Amino acid sequence: MSRVHNFSAGPAALPLEVLEQAQASLTDYEGSGMSVMEISHRSKAFMQIAEEAEADLRELMGIPDDYAVLFLQGGATQQFALLPMNLCAPGQSADYLVTGSWSKKAYAQGGAVTQANLVAQGDNASVPAVDSWNLNSDAAFFHYCQNETIGGVEFHELPETGSVPLVADMSSTILSRPIDVSRFGVIYAGAQKNIGPAGLTIMIARKDLLEQGGEGLPPILRYQTQAEAGSMSNTPPTFAWYLAGLVFKWLKRQGGIEAMGEINKRKAEALYAAIDGSDFYANPVAIENRSWMNVPFTLAKPDLDSVFLQEAEAAGLMNLKGHRSVGGMRASIYNAVSEDSVNALIAFMADFESRNA
Ligand code: PMP
Repeated sequence: MSRVHNFSAGPAALPLEVLEQAQASLTDYEGSGMSVMEISHRSKAFMQIAEEAEADLRELMGIPDDYAVLFLQGGATQQFALLPMNLCAPGQSADYLVTGSWSKKAYAQGGAVTQANLVAQGDNASVPAVDSWNLNSDAAFFHYCQNETIGGVEFHELPETGSVPLVADMSSTILSRPIDVSRFGVIYAGAQKNIGPAGLTIMIARKDLLEQGGEGLPPILRYQTQAEAGSMSNTPPTFAWYLAGLVFKWLKRQGGIEAMGEINKRKAEALYAAIDGSDFYANPVAIENRSWMNVPFTLAKPDLDSVFLQEAEAAGLMNLKGHRSVGGMRASIYNAVSEDSVNALIAFMADFESRNA
């Protein structure tokens, strides 16, 4: 079997151990003679998988009891619309801070269903200065993206919004380091970067916000419907949920997210040091907002981009092409991307520079 160094932004690398476990049980889950994919979501075996996944996530993130954990579908994008539909009372506005492509999309979707107030618009390379923020104290929530996957702009401190609940898109940073869940109204994330395969969306939400919200919506669009049904008001993505549960157990075996945070910090620091230490590579993001998970970089000679990518692939370094909207390169270094992979990239970059600078 040959495995490569996978820097995909998402769907992204999964721990090999997890894939092997899933493979071993693919046709015969724990002696049942059936695959996890072939059993009812309401069966005893699956209920145990579902409950353990939630309990492990609660333990990993220190999720307080007054928060619900939902296993949803529709991706983060669907939540851009469902969040204001559920959390805004009729006529109530919501605040949106835009720091890149994803928070901009959330703002646009929010504007389609409620009165969306633009708090500030960043330059895609930094978080706008706090004293420029136009906050609305009557807003139902303050929405922002904790880590912009395309631009590589991350918050290293949480925004202060007084009594207005924080709603955070954590698709590309969830589980990468410890956070204080009690500071949030809602945290949500598509699974396909740091949690598991695509098809699953995790939401962690203060129960009182869900209970109050979404009156008048069709029941299936109300978060509270899913909260009351244990995320099974319709058939959930069972296999993705199972794999996410395996990833949570893998994270616990690595020492939890405190330990992952230390590894992730080392990985990011090493890669940024390599970029900053060279005249050939550059990263445009303000140092205090640089992402630990998604590291975009450019070459001093952009006409060499395709050669860089070809040679990287030949060296087993995959999926380094930057997002089509910005070009250049991007290395996504999620939890399942090891320090060895990051070191292999750094060594390749130094070698490429020595031959082409
Ligand atoms: N938010 C962020 C930060 C993302 O990175 C992505 C996906 N790349 C999305 C939202 C959209 O996720 P989905 O495709 O699951 O709707």
